[in-house]
Amino acid sequence: MEILRTPAGIHDWRDSIRARSLKVGLVPTMGSLHAGHVSLLEAARRDCDRVVMSLFVNPTQFASGDDLATYPRDEARDFRIAADAGVDLVYCPAPEVIYPEGFSTTVRVSGLSELLEGREGSRGPTHFTGVTTVVAKLLNAIDPDRAYFGQKDAQQAAVIRRMVADLEYRQEIVVLPTVREPDGLAMSSRNVHLDPAERSLAAEIPAALEIVRAGAAGGDLPAAMAAARYRLAEAGIEPEYLEVRDAETLEPVEPDGSRPVLVAVAARIGSTRLIDNIVIKPEPQPNQTARSNR
Ligand code: AMP
Repeated sequence: MEILRTPAGIHDWRDSIRARSLKVGLVPTMGSLHAGHVSLLEAARRDCDRVVMSLFVNPTQFASGDDLATYPRDEARDFRIAADAGVDLVYCPAPEVIYPEGFSTTVRVSGLSELLEGREGSRGPTHFTGVTTVVAKLLNAIDPDRAYFGQKDAQQAAVIRRMVADLEYRQEIVVLPTVREPDGLAMSSRNVHLDPAERSLAAEIPAALEIVRAGAAGGDLPAAMAAARYRLAEAGIEPEYLEVRDAETLEPVEPDGSRPVLVAVAARIGSTRLIDNIVIKPEPQPNQTARSNR
């Protein structure tokens, strides 16, 4: 596995691959790898001839200096996990390589970046500007055929899809399901900050989402949302938000069963902020089933 830290190194590597028409997959990460990241790396390994993982704790997407300072980092461990997952190249630039003196360009997806996580009081609108700017740079530097993202960060995936469509990036964006712990908690690098009591309480978040999923399947999403809120309140968790949104636009919707909806939640457990979501897809209509059975 090769490790490169500068765009010049990446460009040379990419040029050598291009000459051989090999398909390149990119998995952007902030390191502190877990099974969620590994699922993306393994998918890239299956689909592509070469797998690049970027490892960059992007300062511009952090709302507070504290969260950035305490973000878990262990490069040596990440390199081992990446090598085991079959990564060919890790790109891990220093912040001053990505943002050299004089850097003054940002890529901002308006609208989508200001909802949910992007609201003032949550992570704020600058969070996604940090994400889209760095992802734009990675897509330009590495020029993969495909880039892989996790559904765990559903809004991030939606914002990146919008950027790629709007700016005519030609890379294919692949979004893969959330990988969970056995009790349902979505894997996250920040889970290491949870103490044992907080860790068991955190499982209430996916439990609440499961209540929504089950209730929606029974046909009453509003009642299911109320039951999920009750479950969180009983556990002493006050969510920052627990909302039903259009899965693509992330705008508030009155679900009528015709389009997929995203049920997204953010909550603090102690001082750790966790996010999670599920997508509820429309039930196939009887006539659609009949057609597909023919
Ligand atoms: P991060 O290192 O947290 O920036 O995440 C890097 C990529 O891994 C992003 O596309 C995330 O959405 C994805 N990811 C993080 N956690 C999970 C998870 N539990 N399951 C699937 N993908 C994940």
